[in-house]
Amino acid sequence: MSALLTVNDLKVSFNTDDGVVRAVDGISYSVEPGATLGIVGESGSGKTVGTMTIMGLTRAANTEISGQAIFDGEDLLRASEQQMRAIRGDEIAMIFQDPLASLHPFFTIGAQLVEAIRVHNDVSKAAARTRSAELLTMVGLSDPKQRLSSYPHQFSGGMRQRVMIAMALANEPRLLIADEPTTALDVTVQAQILELIAELQAQSGTAMIIITHDLGVVAEVADEIAVMYAGRIVEQGSATELFSSPQHPYTRALLDSIPRLDRDRSRALEPIAGRPPSLISPPSGCAFHPRCPLAFGRCPDELPALEPTAPGSQHLVACLLSSESRSAER
Ligand code: SF4
Repeated sequence: MSALLTVNDLKVSFNTDDGVVRAVDGISYSVEPGATLGIVGESGSGKTVGTMTIMGLTRAANTEISGQAIFDGEDLLRASEQQMRAIRGDEIAMIFQDPLASLHPFFTIGAQLVEAIRVHNDVSKAAARTRSAELLTMVGLSDPKQRLSSYPHQFSGGMRQRVMIAMALANEPRLLIADEPTTALDVTVQAQILELIAELQAQSGTAMIIITHDLGVVAEVADEIAVMYAGRIVEQGSATELFSSPQHPYTRALLDSIPRLDRDRSRALEPIAGRPPSLISPPSGCAFHPRCPLAFGRCPDELPALEPTAPGSQHLVACLLSSESRSAER
């Protein structure tokens, strides 16, 4: 199947008073129709900047962008602002982390949904309102007609996130980008929202990129996973491979820091030592070396390339250790 979105060697940097921030430093991936890619990493790993750039939301005088983001045959990085406005919310939609910040507090939910529909479709207000009520029902909100007259502050966090999902799906996008869609919600609501997203995605056949710091979240929904560190992808592969046989020490550290049903319950969760690096002056060589328990002599001097873990494998890792040495250290 040909990819819906192909990102090639995407680089994004920001010129600031403190220096050049290399937020994304040469990432490549693709997403097929109906598939889900999880992009995982700590704050500051570049996972959000990459997708915001694809959506044309980081364009500014101090931003330098290179590479390609081919969506349906067109390079989004070279599309005009007018073309991007037509694509955003229609062909590609986003769900953000904080629904309260994304919904306008002065307008009713109905007014905002109607607007989202009519911006991309030549339909009457009445038809858009009927569609809005259908969307609220689809995301599991009862009494949709009454809800349309409510304001965002009258909804709980979970209900607001359901509204954001309804808004994102209003125009049946071909690609949905969900950026930390459950981080602001409590654990039980998180599970419901993830289930809802997965269910609606399966029904509509929409492709999805889900961005999160939490490997547990992508375990629920992703087919493929890309793990990012300091603006680069350090491991990439199918969710099955990544969970059953993680190769990069950072991926292993992320996995050790979350609760897992397949692990001994008496084993304590291990936080990742140290802090994410500065993107203005990242560590030399492998940027993970100051925190890596397996670092050795070459690590501060050589930048590891993202390479197959075995000849012909789609499972990729960027680490200077041989796979035998990594396995021996487990
Ligand atoms: Fe650790 Fe070195 Fe591999 Fe980087 S290259 S992940 S520092 S062992």
